[in-house]
Amino acid sequence: MTSQTWQSLCDKRYRLSLRLFLLLNAISALFSMALPLYNLRTFTPPVCIIFVLSVILPAWHKFHPKTKINISFISLLFGCLWAWHVVIRARLLSDNASTYLLIALLSVLFLGAIAFSNNIVAFLLHSFPVFAACLWFDGAENGIRLIFTFALPVIGIAIQQAIQRRNDNFARALMQRLMQESKTLNDLSMLDPLTGLYNRRGLQHKLNNLLALDDSSCFVLLLDIDHFKAYNDHYGHMMGDQALIRVSAALRDAVRSRDIVARFGGEEFMILLNNMDLEHARQTAERIRQKVYDLDIPHMFNESVATNVTVSIGIAPLQDSDIDAALSLADKALYEAKHLGRNNILVSGDLQVA
Ligand code: GH3
Ligand code: MG
Ligand code: MG
Repeated sequence: MTSQTWQSLCDKRYRLSLRLFLLLNAISALFSMALPLYNLRTFTPPVCIIFVLSVILPAWHKFHPKTKINISFISLLFGCLWAWHVVIRARLLSDNASTYLLIALLSVLFLGAIAFSNNIVAFLLHSFPVFAACLWFDGAENGIRLIFTFALPVIGIAIQQAIQRRNDNFARALMQRLMQESKTLNDLSMLDPLTGLYNRRGLQHKLNNLLALDDSSCFVLLLDIDHFKAYNDHYGHMMGDQALIRVSAALRDAVRSRDIVARFGGEEFMILLNNMDLEHARQTAERIRQKVYDLDIPHMFNESVATNVTVSIGIAPLQDSDIDAALSLADKALYEAKHLGRNNILVSGDLQVA
């Protein structure tokens, strides 16, 4: 996702830079034909080609958006065409050739600097042919001036590109960090902060994934701590929280890692046992009940059930991936298990007491 977004941003920048380059070339070619320096009204072939290509290429690209136009090739081609144009004009201007060459070089550098302010390669490919032509034509007299005129923007654009690269790296790292943090937040939003088990949102997410893949026999277990209100009332809310944390750890400990354990409500939990038959589901529930009992968390107000914290469990099969129906059956079984005296397990449609 991140790299795709980044790539599409880079592609967009590439296309925009190319379009800007072609637009500037079209305007420059038009200007050079309409208002030539020293009134040299000659339509040189290269300037006509530049104008035609600058108009045709964007139109062609509109109909073939998937084809990537090579910016280096285009900049070199246009650079050579401008060089050709400059040589033709300079030949006609034997008197004012030096000034003309300097102005022509500056124009090409100006155009390149606008379109390729962050692309030193394209800038060089575009301006070097004109620079070489000027040097060849007028090197003896103005060599140093021409070299200076050419070198200054080259250095500037090379530095500009380095700065841009740093900014890009920073932006990319920032984007990756944001994506990572958003994933962490998303993961955290699926967990219950007290017990570290899945909350309802996390449960739903896990169920969606699991039910899409797994069509094996599954069982839903609904668990509820017995007389927990009395525990809270007598031992305090803080102790209640501690008891919830210890019970949650015992539940997680009693099942396989592939089973889903979620805090369903205040002191209610849901476990989804997948790929398991009824007998094993029953045994697992019994193991859970025993584990919680063995935690030996004192609970003197667990009325007639025990003197420590206990849970009651309702079990129901998951049929046709209908989790709501399974939960409703498990809830009824849990309700019955409570009525049968708590610290109990009951399978839906069954009256067997553990
Ligand atoms: P039963 O055996 O019928 O389930 O009785 P109960 O008292 O457990 O049932 P009830 O639903 O009346 O009470 C649930 C209690 O769980 C109420 C509340 O004090 C406690 N509880 C719910 N969520 C939390 C929690 O996050 N922390 C603490 N400490 N207690 C909680
Ligand atoms: Mg309850
Ligand atoms: Mg309870």
